[in-house]
Amino acid sequence: MPAGLPGIGDPERRGDNRRRCAECGNLAGNGRCLAVARREVVASRTYAPAPDWLRRCEGFKPQPGDPDQRPGRDRWPGL
Ligand code: SF4
Repeated sequence: MPAGLPGIGDPERRGDNRRRCAECGNLAGNGRCLAVARREVVASRTYAPAPDWLRRCEGFKPQPGDPDQRPGRDRWPGL
């Protein structure tokens, strides 16, 4: 997580269930989204999402430290 941004457990994010791409297990080291590359999320295959933007994404994959281990399509079924 980039320095200066509140993490998942930070009080500033209480009541906000959005996540950053930087908190997603599908963000590759080169900045590309692996879920997009697998065509699980519709976007250009070379899509490089903004890593710090809070969002709700059907392809979201929680990392081990995330207190909510549901994938995006279960967290936000309306997407
Ligand atoms: S699956 Fe969604 S939340 Fe995860 S890196 Fe890709 S665009 Fe971001």
